[in-house]
Amino acid sequence: MRINVLGVGFDNLTMAEAVDRGMELLQSPGTHYVVTPNPEIVEVCRENLAARQAVNAADLVLPDGVGVVKGARMLGTPLKEKVPGIEFAAGLMERMAKEGLSLYLLGAKPGVAETAGEKLAAKYPGLKIAGTRDGYFQEDGPVVANIRASGADCVFVCLGAPKQELWMNKHGKDTGARLLCGLGGSLDVFAGVAERAPKFWCDHGLEWFYRLCKNPWRAGRMMRLPLFLIHVQREKKRT
Ligand code: UDP
Repeated sequence: MRINVLGVGFDNLTMAEAVDRGMELLQSPGTHYVVTPNPEIVEVCRENLAARQAVNAADLVLPDGVGVVKGARMLGTPLKEKVPGIEFAAGLMERMAKEGLSLYLLGAKPGVAETAGEKLAAKYPGLKIAGTRDGYFQEDGPVVANIRASGADCVFVCLGAPKQELWMNKHGKDTGARLLCGLGGSLDVFAGVAERAPKFWCDHGLEWFYRLCKNPWRAGRMMRLPLFLIHVQREKKRT
C-alpha cells in the first residue's frame, strides 16, 4: 500500500528495495515508469490534476528527498527512507551494466545528454547507451520513434517536472522501452554541467539550501517548500 502525502502516494521502500523493484520492472513485459517527487512536485500536484494523475499512475513513486520523508513522518505514516532519484538511477545503471542492458538519455540542453552518455558508458562498463536526445524538441512523434528504433530497455526522461511525468504517462508505451524514469536535472549532473550538493548538505537535509545559494533564481520555485510544510501541518490537524 502506498503512503499518501498530500494526495501523492509514495512507495515505502529502502533505496536497495527500490533498485530491486526497478530491475524487476525492467525485466517484466510491458512498459513501466518511475517518478521521484520532491515537496515542490507534491505542491505542483496539489494544484495540477493532470500532473497528480500522471504521478500517481507511475509503477514506482519514490520520495526524492528528506522533505517528503519529514512530511510523511509528521502525518503519522513514516516512510523508510529518502530515495533520491539520482542515486536510484546510479543503482539501476550499476545493475543494468551487469545485465548488458541499454539506456536512452532524453532531456537537458543540446549536447548535455551526449556528454552524460559518454561519461556513464565509461563509469558503468557493460551499460549500452542506445541513444541520446536533448529536451528542447517541438514534436513528440520523432522523439518517440527514435527511442523505439534504438531498442532501448530503459529511458531516463529529464525534462523537468511535471513535463517529464506527463510525457512518460502519454508516450511511455509507444517508446517500446520496458522502463522510463523521470529524473529532472540528473543529466546535467551526470554530464558534469551541474554539481550535486556535497554529502554534508545532503546528509543534513539541506540540499535544497545549497541549490538555492548556487541558483538564487530558484527562490520563486522554492517558496513551494514552506508551503508544503504548512499544508502538511494543516492536514495533520484535520486528521
Ligand atoms: N528541460 C528540458 N526541456 C524542457 C525544460 C527543461 O530538457 O523543456 C531540462 C533542463 O535543461 C534541466 C531539467 O530539464 O536539465 C530540469 O532540471 P531542474 O533542475 O529544473 O529539475 P529538478 O531536478 O529540479 O526537477
